[in-house]
Amino acid sequence: MLQTSLLVAPFTVRGVGEDILWLVQNGAGITVETVGLSKVYGEGSTTVRALRDVSLEFLGGEFAAIMGPSGSGKSTLLHILGALDKPSSGRVIVGGTDLSGLSDRKLTLLRRQRMGFVFQFFNLIPTLSAEENVLLPALIAGERAGKYSERLDELLELVGLADRRTHRPDELSGGEQQRVAIARALIRNPDMILADEPTGNLDSKTGAGVLDLLRQSAAHYDQTILMVTHDPRAAASADRVVFLSDGRVVDEARDPDPDGILERIKNLESAG
Ligand code: ADP
Repeated sequence: MLQTSLLVAPFTVRGVGEDILWLVQNGAGITVETVGLSKVYGEGSTTVRALRDVSLEFLGGEFAAIMGPSGSGKSTLLHILGALDKPSSGRVIVGGTDLSGLSDRKLTLLRRQRMGFVFQFFNLIPTLSAEENVLLPALIAGERAGKYSERLDELLELVGLADRRTHRPDELSGGEQQRVAIARALIRNPDMILADEPTGNLDSKTGAGVLDLLRQSAAHYDQTILMVTHDPRAAASADRVVFLSDGRVVDEARDPDPDGILERIKNLESAG
């Protein structure tokens, strides 16, 4: 499993306040497409082909789950879709813009302005309160916190943390920290949300609440949500499930049900 410190790069505050005007957006959700994506790690005898010729299209407003056995390339795909890593070959096209043509600075702006990340390792800032952590993407983008006061109240209420807003992460449970991370990802209503095992550390009731929140957010704000998960019940919340095995897309399901997903995953694991 890959780990990335998501809040490190955006702390370089070059370009604060700039908008990504070169991305097409008409409030109609953002389409994300990959064409012949491959990712190779290492060289010679240590070469690992993590992704092989992955071509996919996620429509604006679509909530998609990515599943597959451990080591099948799920995290690698999510990181490349989130412009956190680069493919060895192939292209990622977000809102009509080919990411391979963008400088690192523009990729940082793209992540900051248009994407929200919910990863299993929450990357909360330990010295900040829950509400300060939620507001961080807005502050990093050079916006005034006051602009978000209503949205902040609404989100803290939605994730059930209204009475914990002044607590620091070490004063919160794992589930509460995850909910802070979700509220943080949603605060600026990004066009695209990337989630890696967002319910991985949560009990089933809290996990169901988090999935509801993601689904409602996708529907209400027309956000494209891409979620890696091992959990068939979590995947069943999505509109569509893409199955990976050994770096390849091997199957897809629309409007999936948990039993059908479990069956396909079992087949993939026994085939591997
Ligand atoms: P998944 O998320 O499905 O468990 P990953 O995308 O984390 O799979 O990994 C896919 C393959 O790429 C695995 O074989 C993994 O060991 C390898 N891999 C992932 N990251 C790296 C890396 N930074 N260096 C070398 N190999 C890696």
